[in-house]
This record gives sequence, C-alpha cells and structure tokens, in this order.
Amino acid sequence: ALAARDLRHGFGSTPVLHGVSLSVEGGEVVAVTGPSGSGKSTLLHLLGGLDTPQAGEVWWAGERVDSLGTQARALRRAGRVGLVFQHHYLLEDLSVLQNVLVPALLTRQDGQERARALLRRVGLAGRESSLPGVLSGGERQRVAVARALATRPAVILADEPTGSLDRANAEVIATLLLDLAREDGAGVLLVTHDERLAAHAGRALHLLDGRIVDA
Ligand code: ATP
Ligand code: MG
Repeated sequence: ALAARDLRHGFGSTPVLHGVSLSVEGGEVVAVTGPSGSGKSTLLHLLGGLDTPQAGEVWWAGERVDSLGTQARALRRAGRVGLVFQHHYLLEDLSVLQNVLVPALLTRQDGQERARALLRRVGLAGRESSLPGVLSGGERQRVAVARALATRPAVILADEPTGSLDRANAEVIATLLLDLAREDGAGVLLVTHDERLAAHAGRALHLLDGRIVDA
C-alpha cells in the first residue's frame, strides 16, 4: 500500500533522516517509536507527501509520488493515504461534514453517505454543521479520523494521533481509528509514545538518529 526507499532528508545543514526504507501492507498496523527528535514526524511528513525528500523514493499504491508536483500529489493522496496528526489540519471555515468531504471532492467521489456514516461512527452525529472551532480537542480529532478514512485509503499515517488528549479520550479515539482501518483493510503506520497503543501493532520500527534500528 505504501513504501519508501532510502529516504534522506534534513533541514538547513542538519541531516535528520539518513536513508530510511520501509513498507506498509494493507491490513497491517506498524508502530514507529523512537526518542524525541529522532525524525518520526519528518518521516511521516515525507511518507504523506506533505514534504519532498532530499533523496529517496515514496510509493503509494505502486506509483512513485515523491517527484510529482504538489497538486498532483494532493489529488493522489486524497484517494490513497489518510492522515491523522496530533495537530490536525482541519479547515476552520468549513463545517465538520465539509471537512470530511474534502478528500472525496478531490477524488470526484460522492462521499456524502460515507462521510455521514463515519461521523456517526466517531460519535459526532448531529454535529455535521458545526464549525471545528466550537469542538473540543477530542471531537476535532474524531473529525480528523473520519476525514482520514473518507475515501477508504489503503493506508493511514498517524503521528501521535492521541498525543494531546486525556487518557480516556485517547483510548477511545485510537480504538476507533484502528477498528475503522481494520474494517476497510487499510494499513496503519502509527507514531506513538503510548505503550498501550503500540501494543496493537503487528510490528514496530524503531527510529534512532534518523535510521531504523533493530528494536
Ligand atoms: P517528537 O517525538 O518530539 O515528536 P520526532 O521524532 O517527531 O520528535 P522530528 O519532528 O521529525 O522528530 O524532528 C527531527 C529533527 O528535525 C529535530 O531536530 C527537529 O528540530 C528538526 N526539524 C523538524 N522539522 C523541522 C523544520 N521544519 N525546520 C527545521 N528543523 C526541523
Ligand atoms: Mg514528532
């Protein structure tokens, strides 16, 4: 569903990733662990096509995407890769429902029914027309989960998806994300410091100083 080959990246003169290769298949849950500053978020940004690697390759559903332009990549992403990050990027001027519909719009799908069903599943029935600004942190993250799954992408990238939530909320939302991904047969790559969340993963990749090392 997703693969990376020999990714290298840095900021200014500071190298952060020194050649990372990995793959995520449909249906599997892979945890990414590693100390703060080891490059986990940098890696997920590259895998999600939010940033372009200085060297190396990113593949989504058998297509190489790192060399595509921003717009072409955004369109591919909408159908293939769902993102749930700690600081979710909800569009503040759009309603909850419209936020969830964005990936479907980009891929020219009629996502209405799916979006409404997902919002029910994440416990936001009745909040479709609310603006994100009036939601709690946990509710916002539920919207991000629904949006990530809207087009039934083959893989979900989640970067500390529950990092800013209290424990009870974190557990519920993580479980929702993993359950919904499993129902769709989607693979999940999950950065988390939460041991209980990592326990749901079939395997773990440990990142240390920008390299994947044996855990
Ligand atoms: P954490 O567990 O704290 O989230 P992380 O493993 O996600 O850490 P990254 O956010 O990937 O780490 O950061 C890796 C290194 O790259 C850090 O030294 C960070 O300061 C640097 N870095 C990340 N993003 C940028 C940026 N946009 N500009 C400059 N440096 C950056
Ligand atoms: Mg991070």
